[in-house]
Amino acid sequence: MNSESSRPQKMTSKFKSLPSVEKVLSDDRVEMLVQKYSRKVVVDLVRSEIDAARQTILDGYAAPDFDRLVQAIEESAETNWREWPTHVINATGVILHTNLGRAPLSQEATDAARRAALGYSDLELDLNTGRRGSRQAHISNLMAEVTGAEAALVVNNNASALMLGLAALAVGKEVIVSRGEAVEIGGGFRVPDVLRQSGATLVEVGTTNRTYARDFEAAITENTGAILAVHASNFRVMGFTHAPELAELVELGAQRGVTVLHDLGSGCLLDTAAYGIAHEPMPQESVQAGVGLGFFSGDKLLGGPQAGIIAGKRELIDIVARHPLARAVRIDKMSMAALAATVLHYIKGEAVDKVPIWRMISMSESEAAAKAERWQARIGGAASVEKAMSTIGGGSLPGETIDSWALAIDCRNRTGGAEALAKALREGDTPVIGRIEDERVLLDPRTVLPEEEDALLAVVSNALVGS
Ligand SMILES: *Cc1c(COP(=O)(O)O)cnc(C)c1O
Repeated sequence: MNSESSRPQKMTSKFKSLPSVEKVLSDDRVEMLVQKYSRKVVVDLVRSEIDAARQTILDGYAAPDFDRLVQAIEESAETNWREWPTHVINATGVILHTNLGRAPLSQEATDAARRAALGYSDLELDLNTGRRGSRQAHISNLMAEVTGAEAALVVNNNASALMLGLAALAVGKEVIVSRGEAVEIGGGFRVPDVLRQSGATLVEVGTTNRTYARDFEAAITENTGAILAVHASNFRVMGFTHAPELAELVELGAQRGVTVLHDLGSGCLLDTAAYGIAHEPMPQESVQAGVGLGFFSGDKLLGGPQAGIIAGKRELIDIVARHPLARAVRIDKMSMAALAATVLHYIKGEAVDKVPIWRMISMSESEAAAKAERWQARIGGAASVEKAMSTIGGGSLPGETIDSWALAIDCRNRTGGAEALAKALREGDTPVIGRIEDERVLLDPRTVLPEEEDALLAVVSNALVGS
């Protein structure tokens, strides 16, 4: 084959086996694609598949026959132009799964986002006066209500919130950070880099495990722009450690005229300790301690859409809001609507029942067991019910687990083992994502929404029969 393909005459004759673009386009299946998408994109796709087939020949392999070529075109169309993202069922037991989009929204938050998306809204119009309003006014009031802060500003995500806050308050100045808190948050987002990017200079104080208020005090100069406290969300230092209380830093800041900023990470408005896991810092506590500004995410333990919230003193919020970067990291109307609806759940005291991630966190062990039992009864002997550990995920509360029960499918005697079954589940009508432990696939009911259960069980049954 190889020796043949190097001869020009043979090559030409081999290319002749390839159909013309027109011939492929006249096939019924390809005509259907033209109907479904558009002539232009399908023609481009046909051309590129024929080119690929030509390359296959040049590489010395047999060209696909006409049917194979059309199938490849259909597959490419269905993959490239499918509705995206695809809904998947999270049975991993990881509540804030970053790969799966972090927090699922409540019904009300979803409806609000949909309303904002479908029509026009008073996003920046004061219906009273008919004049231009601010998209921040309403959410600022809601955030102030739940955190106790004087005012708030909402931007695209917490990373941009922090960047904006530092740029607005500390450009050209020094920002003092504990060595133990100059952390990487994930995805290459590192506190020292963010500081540099915002035009501030990092001054690290203390040691990795122990830092005292006096370390901060000794580092204050006339060029100090702020003290920054960062919650090391995604790791834990244990043993011989010390970090100053926020209130100590606030007191120091007040004495020396230095603003204290606090990056909380997750924006947890309910006390996690009430659910048997470690206490996660709360924005209310940060405000109570008197920090100038607190920064947190909308889609971690707040349980809302992606957003970055800056809450604190009104005069500081005003300065931050006027900075040009504020426009660059502006939040869109759908996220704003979903965030407002999510915060309303907290205001009404119904967050544990309505915000999906709080329903998951607060699900009792016996409730998880009962669900897993119910699943087992429908799946049968291939599965058993076993003790499992759910986690918060999303870089929050590392090492903290919630006791749970899961449906376990032992794969030691299955072809391809647990990996093969996990793949079959991912390829289900609604993809199901489980977790693998000791050649078993575990499906944790804690992170599965009630309305997803039937679809999950159908996918699992199918996968078990099909292999
Ligand atoms: C997650 C996190 C961020 C980044 O928040 P995003 O909303 O993901 O941009 C920043 N700081 C801390 C401490 C975090 O935990």
